[in-house]
Amino acid sequence: MREAPAPGTPVHLDRGAFVVSIDTELAWGEAHRRDGSAGRHRFDAEREVIAAILDLFARYEIAATWAVVGHLFLDRCADDGHGPHPELVQPAYGWLDGEWLAIDPCSTLDDAPFWYGRDIVDAILACPVRQEVGSHSFSHVIVDDPACTAEVFSSELAAAAQVAAERRLDLRSFVYPRNAIAQVDLLADHGFRCYRGGRASAPFAGRPAWQRRALAAVDKVRPQAGSAVRPTRHASGVWNVPQTYLFAPATGGRRLPPAVWSRRPVARLRQAARHRSVFHLWFHPYNVTADPHRALASLEIICRAADRLRDEDSLDVVTMGDLAARLDADADTDG
Ligand SMILES: [Zn+2]
Repeated sequence: MREAPAPGTPVHLDRGAFVVSIDTELAWGEAHRRDGSAGRHRFDAEREVIAAILDLFARYEIAATWAVVGHLFLDRCADDGHGPHPELVQPAYGWLDGEWLAIDPCSTLDDAPFWYGRDIVDAILACPVRQEVGSHSFSHVIVDDPACTAEVFSSELAAAAQVAAERRLDLRSFVYPRNAIAQVDLLADHGFRCYRGGRASAPFAGRPAWQRRALAAVDKVRPQAGSAVRPTRHASGVWNVPQTYLFAPATGGRRLPPAVWSRRPVARLRQAARHRSVFHLWFHPYNVTADPHRALASLEIICRAADRLRDEDSLDVVTMGDLAARLDADADTDG
């Protein structure tokens, strides 16, 4: 019998795993940025793109994890004299003037559709291929900043769980806003089973620098065993389902055709199948709205490749929560 895996040790899988997670945040993700980057994103196109992505997932039977900002579960909110959402402990970030929730419009889905997304949660739940609804905190707090105290993060997790429970959803998977990972223990306390983290070690770790450079060059063309990524268990018991690939094709290669956009992710999918490792693709809907036609064509090529590898029995397509549940089950029977 195997021992339950030690914290931080990469866990080998029986089969490759394709995981997709989508940071679903609309205006919440960019609202506190001071660099004006929010203005670049086409929030008005997000609902259409989310519908198209769900349609793709239905056609290719892709079960994905939608990490939804808790406020988007709502279709309205109000300030009853105590400020918006008085149950939240607000972070007092040194870089922010004014209160964290000063941006909350305290309005309705119809009047402020970039701040509420009840209809988006409905659409995700209505997908004929079951999707996982996970959490991206309640108001997109930056958790690794010292101003995000345990009280702040706990109140965010509790508020997210509350709005999810109203939809009879049990949140199991957490994606940290801006991938700013901290206070993982609190996830376990609030019933989460996994989060999206980073890889346990650098590609080709332990090899001399010249070998790493050479292997990295080969790896770009045909990904090697030494760059394969696997989940790890945190000391609190929750699983790190590491992200491996940000799908933001329009950012780096606007002029390239979709077949070129999808070449690297498809090579990484095959790597996951060959080496029984994880390929975890993630993005925001705004990465697709940046060039929807070609990004969706590229995403379709990736989904089709995953579907084929699954048909060949060399790849599972799983949500973060599904993968964590399997790892939990293995740890139970092996421990
Ligand atoms: Zn609100």
